[in-house]
Amino acid sequence: MATPLSELLISVRAAVRAASALCLAVGDPERLEKRGQEPVTLADYGSQAIIVRAAALGFPEDRVVAEEGSAHLLEAAGAAGVAEIVDLVNAALGEQCSAADVVRWIDHRGGAGSRTWAVDPIDGTKGFLRGDQFAVAVGIVEEGVPVGGVLGCPRFVVGEHTGVMLWGGPGIGAFIEPLAGGSPQPVAVSGITGPDAARVLGSVEAAHGDPALVRRVIDRAGLGGGWVRLDSQVKYAAVAAGLAEIYIRPRSREDWRERTWDHAAGAAIVEGAGGRVTDLDGELLDFTAGPTLENNRGVLVTNGAVHDLVLGALTSD
Ligand code: AMP
Ligand code: MG
Repeated sequence: MATPLSELLISVRAAVRAASALCLAVGDPERLEKRGQEPVTLADYGSQAIIVRAAALGFPEDRVVAEEGSAHLLEAAGAAGVAEIVDLVNAALGEQCSAADVVRWIDHRGGAGSRTWAVDPIDGTKGFLRGDQFAVAVGIVEEGVPVGGVLGCPRFVVGEHTGVMLWGGPGIGAFIEPLAGGSPQPVAVSGITGPDAARVLGSVEAAHGDPALVRRVIDRAGLGGGWVRLDSQVKYAAVAAGLAEIYIRPRSREDWRERTWDHAAGAAIVEGAGGRVTDLDGELLDFTAGPTLENNRGVLVTNGAVHDLVLGALTSD
């Protein structure tokens, strides 16, 4: 029998908290040698080592899909880079692990269980490098459905706290707690039902979406609460916490496929907070295909109440 989700989430939360601390400990992150268009830093690998370690040690039967692998790390940063990560991981965990441990954890992809961890160790690496928002994201997917999620948001300011963790899932609810420590408090999506005050979120990076389409939808639906651009799944966290009503992520190009780890954690949390997550045609996202979400032209996340209104404004695109 697999461990119950509630117990699993306790371990994931501890790992996300440590991984978030590791990211902040890298004061002035450097981008490693370019890998395609996607930047990556030593903190990405350190964060992934900490999270996947929790899967490998506590839940070895669970599968893992994760953004990074050690081959590129070794190629771009060599043994010296790995040694730096070992120091970061040991400082964050208060333990003594080796280079071999770190490499093994980064590459661990789990057993043959029905549960999958979808891990983005630093979602929004471009935001992380700019000093803007980023998230440490772990989604738990079971039979193609995101059932639980944890988002570490080290630079997200909510109330008097800078740095929060959101977690939850359908049937669990959604919770926020300060990364610095403190008890979890329930959160819920906003109660706004009409377009006039509806607040919209989108990516900072124009290349990650289609800002012109977002603008058309705002105009057509008369969404009057403003449009704020934020990096990473912090956008999902903001909708879950009632700080915005709508996150629109149109497909950036015909051949782009959204990554499972960019959505699984956020989708579970927003649904736990009472919101709704579909593709731009109102269909459920298909989380069964492994690392990518197939058959959609983008993702729509809302507080639920304004979902159909936005879908209506999307139909003519
Ligand atoms: P965001 O910060 O919300 O813009 O999203 C960050 C994520 O965008 C990264 O984790 C990447 O997986 C993803 N990404 C990279 N290139 C693209 C692209 N061309 N279209 C959509 N998403 C992308
Ligand atoms: Mg990402």
